[in-house]
Amino acid sequence: MESLERAIEKLKEEMPELDLREHESMKEHCSFRLGGRVRAYIAPKDVWDMSRVFYILHFNDIAPLMVGRCTNLIIPEEGLDICVVSTENLQALRMGETENTVYAEAGVSLARLAQFAQQKGLAGLEFAGGIPGSVGGGVLMNAGAYGGEMKDVVDSVVMYYLTDQALTEVKGEDAGFSYRHSNFEGLPCAILGAVFRLTPDEPEAIAARMKEMNDRRREKQPLDMPSAGSAFKRPETGYAAALIDQAGLKGYSVGGAQVSEKHAGFVVNTGDATYDDVVELMDHIRHVVYDKFKVALMPEIRIYPKGMLLVDNWRRQKSSIMESMSETARAKVEEAGRNGDN
Ligand SMILES: Cc1cc2nc3c(=O)[nH]c(=O)nc-3n(C[C@H](O)[C@H](O)[C@H](O)COP(=O)(O)OP(=O)(O)OC[C@H]3O[C@@H](n4cnc5c(N)ncnc54)[C@H](O)[C@@H]3O)c2cc1C
Repeated sequence: MESLERAIEKLKEEMPELDLREHESMKEHCSFRLGGRVRAYIAPKDVWDMSRVFYILHFNDIAPLMVGRCTNLIIPEEGLDICVVSTENLQALRMGETENTVYAEAGVSLARLAQFAQQKGLAGLEFAGGIPGSVGGGVLMNAGAYGGEMKDVVDSVVMYYLTDQALTEVKGEDAGFSYRHSNFEGLPCAILGAVFRLTPDEPEAIAARMKEMNDRRREKQPLDMPSAGSAFKRPETGYAAALIDQAGLKGYSVGGAQVSEKHAGFVVNTGDATYDDVVELMDHIRHVVYDKFKVALMPEIRIYPKGMLLVDNWRRQKSSIMESMSETARAKVEEAGRNGDN
């Protein structure tokens, strides 16, 4: 894609120090240990560098694919002609400005965040201690476990709105959190950090609750095998794992992808699973469960389609807005555009 090549050249030219890896294999990044290469993988060193990257991509008509710890996504083996922007270097973690709050940048792991809060005697994040994702990924999909979810603790989210190239803060109650969903999912945005509102408690009591949840997780989940966690969201009635188990699919496999013997809600990689194996297995599970129980399971894992391109079509949007303007208004906007750099 011409505009992607142009954007990469521009990034290399204007940001020579940037950690930009071309034709990067996503297999090493994804917890499922599978997937192909992406055209560029960028890990900006801080939020300022990240916003410069967004700016260059935007004005070259490219939208980034944001990733955190890649524990909830898969990329086709054939690879994708896209630009991935990782939050792996956004690691600031500190007490918030108001009492009983903690601020974490998007790349902080949920485990580190939960441990930090525990050490500070702040309760509420125990549920997150065993979720292997990042703050950004966790907020985006309202990650949760054992009765807790991000919705309960997120006070506000710092977000970069790609359409306007603007930094903004969204209050937790305005984020549209619901089961494994937030409104950030539908927006062209990057989550840069979040403030968590917590409750004071004894560090030992918090640690005990965290341990109990982590023990339960270790006992029930196939943590020794690569996966992306629960393959499907919880349906409106019942549990995905129970339905898959009752459908007799525990241990069922396609190539190297298998319905875990330990927890039927997990699809695991037994060694050489490919993207196609996972997709075929998940399709099979959905069909069998639907035929038996008339329940449609929805994937929780983000399965990026083959051939996906990420285009920032702001120019097209702008020109259609311009077309609907009066001639005088259009002339003014064009004049401003000539004076500015967009
Ligand atoms: C063994 C195992 C157990 C798990 N257990 C749980 C569990 O108990 N509960 C649960 O909810 N999940 C669980 N998961 C799934 C996963 O860890 C969570 O969904 C986690 O929140 C994903 O975070 P991530 O950083 O890995 O996101 P990624 O996989 O990197 O990305 C997931 C999505 O978020 C987007 N995204 C990531 N970062 C940003 C950002 N900064 N800005 C904008 N968009 C962003 C990506 O574009 C993508 O759409 C588990 C996974 C594994 C492997």
